[in-house]
Amino acid sequence: MLRQAKSLPVFFCEDSTGDLPIGHFPLAESQMTRYPVTPMARYVFITGGVVSSLGKGIAAAALGALLQARGYRVRLRKLDPYLNVDPGTMSPTQHGEVFVTDDGAETDLDLGHYERFTGRSATKTDNITTGRIYKNIIDKERRGDYLGATVQVIPHVTNEIKDFVTEGNEDYDFVLCEVGGTVGDIEAMPFMEAIRQVKNDLPRGTAIYLHLTLMPFIAAAGELKTKPTQHSVKELQAMGIAPDILLVRADREIPEAERRKLSLFCNVRPSAVIQALDVANIYDVPTAYHKEGLDSEVLAAFGIEPAPKPRLDAWEEVCNRIHTPEGEVTIAIVGKYTGLKDAYKSLIEALHHGGIANHVKVKLDWIESEVFEKEDPAPWLEKVHGILVPGGFGERGSQGKINAARFARERQVPYFGICFGMQMAVIEAARNLAGINDASSTEFGSTQEPVVGLMTEWLKGNELEKRSHKGDLGGTMRLGAYKAALKKDTKIADIYGSTEISERHRHRYEVNRDYKEKLESCGLVFSGMSPDGLLPETIEYPDHPWFIGVQYHPELKSRPLDPHPLFASFIEAALEQSRLV
Ligand code: GLN
Repeated sequence: MLRQAKSLPVFFCEDSTGDLPIGHFPLAESQMTRYPVTPMARYVFITGGVVSSLGKGIAAAALGALLQARGYRVRLRKLDPYLNVDPGTMSPTQHGEVFVTDDGAETDLDLGHYERFTGRSATKTDNITTGRIYKNIIDKERRGDYLGATVQVIPHVTNEIKDFVTEGNEDYDFVLCEVGGTVGDIEAMPFMEAIRQVKNDLPRGTAIYLHLTLMPFIAAAGELKTKPTQHSVKELQAMGIAPDILLVRADREIPEAERRKLSLFCNVRPSAVIQALDVANIYDVPTAYHKEGLDSEVLAAFGIEPAPKPRLDAWEEVCNRIHTPEGEVTIAIVGKYTGLKDAYKSLIEALHHGGIANHVKVKLDWIESEVFEKEDPAPWLEKVHGILVPGGFGERGSQGKINAARFARERQVPYFGICFGMQMAVIEAARNLAGINDASSTEFGSTQEPVVGLMTEWLKGNELEKRSHKGDLGGTMRLGAYKAALKKDTKIADIYGSTEISERHRHRYEVNRDYKEKLESCGLVFSGMSPDGLLPETIEYPDHPWFIGVQYHPELKSRPLDPHPLFASFIEAALEQSRLV
């Protein structure tokens, strides 16, 4: 109900007959019938030069969205040069968020951009690290698979990378493969060598290289400089990779003469020097790059001319809503890694998607939860329209989160507890409503009242999954998509418009169902459980305007063209609240 009233307008593709909302990407699917389906995938290898943090992931994702808007089926994959097997055990303050796929892989946050821009759910096989490649090779070596050969970077490591890149692409017209890091990084060398080789392994004309660089503006000279790009392209060429397209980040228009210079010195066509100017919002990127001709240049590099026309109405509407909001709400995020916003990448995006759904701007007020352990939360939280306690690990700051949940419950302010945020809300209820003073989580040490505790066995589909108290930290969590059964006539079932959902998880501890009855008698409803009835999945207070906790991470499935219903509804509730304060 809530969602339908506020959802994005419906767009139709030219040959669509049904009323598919834009979130279902009818354009890509239906237009496919009008253009010849490629017998095999075409590959775009995306590298970065000059400096890191140029937005290679977003550039790749935006190109994916543009090719989709022309009716092509697109897959994005990421090659990460670091030695960790996956980013699962890396600190969010170092590496940013760990993005979890439906099939339970802990991956690089760029996969989140890929999903948000293309709507295609990523899988385990879309991200690989040097660590994983070497692990596979060493496992094979131990099994004797190499039949006594000396195992070497070329061909064994490069073959492993090439197999990863080229496998499972039968259903796609384009595979966009991003190489993490910056050209010149020692760790990335085997990946560079592999992408060099693979172009010759593939049929002629089915692979191109796109290089993202930076033209810095030198104030003293009053000029944008081409030299760093020239050097970076030289370095690529020394590895045997000749970029077909340069995507050049700059903070101002690149003059025609400089483009020609880049074209001449870097050996690309003038039309293949695409300027990538800074934009106000990441969702402006697809339309901005389209205007600069990125997608037509990519298609031209494959000889696809004339190219099918793109339908960008949905993206234009998203940009329009972002740039001309009809109101504003402020959401407090009470968390622990507030110093590094990348640690909450998908969460931030999902909140903005909620804003897009409601046509409002969402302002974020970041609060270190430890503050509420020393100070009264009221002066901080009285002015916000919604409180969100996100996922988190460890005891530090947990009491502050519990205090934030209490404020939200007592003062009737919309509260959204995600994973740890739900666990803290339940502990709050146990202590302050049910009078279980020692209520705690076993994550913080042993306790007499394990309201949140470690589950050692549970069902995934029909399979029994197990974890031990002393297992490795890597990959021992409840990870990936799990189904949940929502109770009829609850707020959450109403928001989803369904009682059967599937959402992505990433946690070790669970709310202990042994406390269910006691907590329910105090008004906290366990509105969703795992299908076997063992694991609490969602909680809510029916007598509160909007107080919902979820054990999973809905932010991972929200997209600008298809905002997640919980975020759309939470922002709507915050909008109501803004009218009261
Ligand atoms: N630390 C909690 C657990 O492992 C919550 C994890 C999270 O919020 N993702 O269960």
